[in-house]
Amino acid sequence: MGKSTGFLVYPRAKMQKRPVQERVRDFFEFEAPLTDGELIRQAARCMDCGVPHCHTFGCPLHNLMPEWNDWVYRGRFREALQVLHATNNFPEFTGRICPAPCEAACTLALEEQAVTIRHIEWRMVEIGWEQGWIQPHKPAVRSGKRVAVIGSGPAGLAAAQQLARHGHEVVVYERMVRIGGILRYGIPDFKLEKWVIDRRLEQMRSEGVVFEPGVEAGVDLSFSYLRSHFDALLLASGATAPRELEIPGRDLDGIFPAMSYLTHVNSAVAGERIDGSFIDARDRRVVVIGGGDTGSDCVGTARRQGAASIVQIEILPEPPSKRAQDNPWPTWPHILRTSSSHEEGCRRLWGLETTAFIGQNGRVTAIEAVSVDAAGGKKKKIKILADLVFLALGFSGTETDSLFEQTQWAVDERGFISVDSHGHSSRNGLFAAGDCVSGPSLVVRAIARGRQTAAGIDRFLGSGR
Ligand SMILES: Cc1cc2nc3c(=O)[nH]c(=O)nc-3n(C[C@H](O)[C@H](O)[C@H](O)COP(=O)(O)OP(=O)(O)OC[C@H]3O[C@@H](n4cnc5c(N)ncnc54)[C@H](O)[C@@H]3O)c2cc1C
Ligand code: SF4
Repeated sequence: MGKSTGFLVYPRAKMQKRPVQERVRDFFEFEAPLTDGELIRQAARCMDCGVPHCHTFGCPLHNLMPEWNDWVYRGRFREALQVLHATNNFPEFTGRICPAPCEAACTLALEEQAVTIRHIEWRMVEIGWEQGWIQPHKPAVRSGKRVAVIGSGPAGLAAAQQLARHGHEVVVYERMVRIGGILRYGIPDFKLEKWVIDRRLEQMRSEGVVFEPGVEAGVDLSFSYLRSHFDALLLASGATAPRELEIPGRDLDGIFPAMSYLTHVNSAVAGERIDGSFIDARDRRVVVIGGGDTGSDCVGTARRQGAASIVQIEILPEPPSKRAQDNPWPTWPHILRTSSSHEEGCRRLWGLETTAFIGQNGRVTAIEAVSVDAAGGKKKKIKILADLVFLALGFSGTETDSLFEQTQWAVDERGFISVDSHGHSSRNGLFAAGDCVSGPSLVVRAIARGRQTAAGIDRFLGSGR
């Protein structure tokens, strides 16, 4: 523990964000990393707890916060980075976009404000890149074994990097034009600029990982081809099949699943060719159905496109501003959160169930909803004018239907792939990791699952490390 009284002397730093008026005019990241002086003060707040709940309970990767905070406080950033990379392949992703369950579980959060773990992680890894400390780790020995990874989201990427470092030959197949999964096509640039992914992919290429974008497994490559050309197969295909809203008027123009909208705009921001007509919220009245994070990303994106108005509606009642009694520390707090996108201008309505889309000449012009009380009873009917509607109702499962038919994976009762604790599925040599196993989750959990499954594959291939 660097400074025993650190948490008493230094307050938690406030996140520095670009002013709203400036940031809504572009898609660049809205948040600024800590300065180096502030970084050391913030690390000094860590109490090196006997039972560090940040590490044991909060973080799915079991990042070693007490250790790295101590190194940072001493100005030994290189050692801090080594400890950070020991458990996390991509701290530059989690440092930017993780909701930080570690901070919710930090002991300081009981009475005080948590250590700003995410910002320390973010600045540390950026120092690593600036100093040239992050270099390829080429394996000393090659195993001669081949692994195909299907899907290039955080789970597939983490597994691919681990396997390549163990000396296996790894090919990552991705059906989209570029590598990165939801990091690339779901999460908007204002939360994660895409050069951040490209920089890490360069390191992975130097480590021997081969990327094959634009290839859909099960369609462009059959399961039997993959089976005969690889010693093990890892499915990391995500869970982005949208949950639908089967109500009158759903077939009207102007209604899109959130992920289609976000993929569309992220592709446009990257200068990719867009299929079909461009979904543009400029001067439109936008309604986002679904009060979660994906909905919030639609809000921020529509705001940057110049929407005339944005309303986000949620079927559940407004959450409390503080933890409820049955939601104690160190569990994740189910409280009202205001995202950066909400700060940028959006009306939020709670306890509303959408019952119909209303339209004219084949295009949506409004939605109809009824207010729902806490007991599920329906009351008042309201109408909200809308030219564009985004459905952010969550995800119902995986999208790899043709591959599923060919492989006949065993799935659990929710439709996600069943695996054992090493990520091994019901079929010999077939592994799965990430959202296609857990259901829609977080980047940090996908990285954790990718790493665990890579260890399982490595064992299966017999290198036994
Ligand atoms: C809009 C949005 C915003 C989010 N924001 C955050 C956030 O801020 N912080 C956070 O922690 N989490 C966030 N999440 C959740 C997080 O992104 C996911 O939990 C995570 O990306 C899952 O990783 P994955 O590798 O399992 O799958 P994915 O990232 O979904 O990647 C799966 C990849 O597999 C590819 N694929 C599928 N089938 C095939 C096939 N047959 N052949 C080849 N390729 C295939 C897909 O194209 C995709 O690229 C967000 C999710 C969404 C939808
Ligand atoms: S719980 Fe908080 S104070 Fe304790 S070790 Fe973790 S980061 Fe430091």
